[in-house]
Amino acid sequence: MGSVKVNNLIKSFGSFTALQNIDLDIKEGEFFALLGPSGCGKTTMMRCIAGFEQPTSGTIRIGDREVEKIPANKRNCGMVFQSYALFPHMNVFENVAYSLNIKQLNSSNIFKQVGIYARLLNKKLGKTPKHIEAKVMEILKYVELDQHAHRLTSELSGGQQQRVALARALVMEPAVLLMDEPLSNLDQKLRHSMRNTIRRIQQELGITTIFVTHDQEEAMSMADRVAVMDAGNIIQIGTPTDLYSNPATPFIANFVGTSNILKGTVIGEENGLYRVQGEGFDLQSTKKPNKPEVDVIIRPEHIKVEAAESIIELSETNVIQGIVLMSTYLGSIVRYDVQVGSYQLVIDTTYSTGGSIYEKGKEVKLTVAHERVLLI
Ligand code: ATP
Repeated sequence: MGSVKVNNLIKSFGSFTALQNIDLDIKEGEFFALLGPSGCGKTTMMRCIAGFEQPTSGTIRIGDREVEKIPANKRNCGMVFQSYALFPHMNVFENVAYSLNIKQLNSSNIFKQVGIYARLLNKKLGKTPKHIEAKVMEILKYVELDQHAHRLTSELSGGQQQRVALARALVMEPAVLLMDEPLSNLDQKLRHSMRNTIRRIQQELGITTIFVTHDQEEAMSMADRVAVMDAGNIIQIGTPTDLYSNPATPFIANFVGTSNILKGTVIGEENGLYRVQGEGFDLQSTKKPNKPEVDVIIRPEHIKVEAAESIIELSETNVIQGIVLMSTYLGSIVRYDVQVGSYQLVIDTTYSTGGSIYEKGKEVKLTVAHERVLLI
């Protein structure tokens, strides 16, 4: 019921095309992140799925229904926004019960007349029916707010308010949960713990979730799969490990984690190793390039640093000479900035107590395994 399929979706605002021919195939129960820089079209994509935005062309299916012509409130999507959009005059329980009560009264245009309706609702229902009360309390337990059911939402912390918003979306048992930058308003520490809370609840309920974020760490740590967007296009879809180990473009290599990106020319192949040369380096890679002029991508943690006086064996390949510009001790790792030709490489090495740290000006020997040299 909760799969989401998007085909050839285009969304234009006047002459500006915000989404260009998007295809997505999100499986039931999957936690799927839309990741990209500001303005790339993430929210527009989400709004099209939710039904707040009409696509210019293309199709959207939720479960077995094609939904472009179905209004937002009939699409069975739960939404959680960056601004929690809670009712400040209602307590936690009432905020969560609200949508269930509305469903019970079967109003179709409630979103247009919230104020009038809230009064009407109180009048008609009086006391919340038992089955609704049980459901609300069950969901409040999930988000660990059952002890705060009777507090006004205006008296809660940011993280607690976000959990009320989550509970309010989940209580409707939507087929799909849509979350648009839900953690952006929280401080760093709270954001980390909310990531775990959201992931735990999502897995326990098995609810298909689409999560919009511009924070790569958030997407990579939470999602089963991530779609990386740029300028209205999806550039790559993959698991976090896929994206990290095999980025499709230099943009992704840089956006998902940190990368060293060097310009190189492929000069030949021998025994399955592609030889690539550029300013200050001569490397071999197991990755087959698509063209002779390539971007050579190496992750900071895939480079080994040794003192330059350590002997270079004749058989040794993939060795680069460099000079340390800066070393930064970060506890379990040491981060080096190393000059190679006109490039400044970033290198992360694990540090064990008593190990040596190479200082500024030190000549060093850098080694990288063939399979860690990506050619794009
Ligand atoms: P952010 O991370 O900053 O929220 P985003 O990736 O979610 O960005 P969108 O909000 O989807 O980006 O916007 C994508 C592009 O479409 C932007 O250039 C934006 O200015 C434009 N856009 C969005 N909504 C409208 C609209 N109603 N009218 C005109 N242009 C719009």
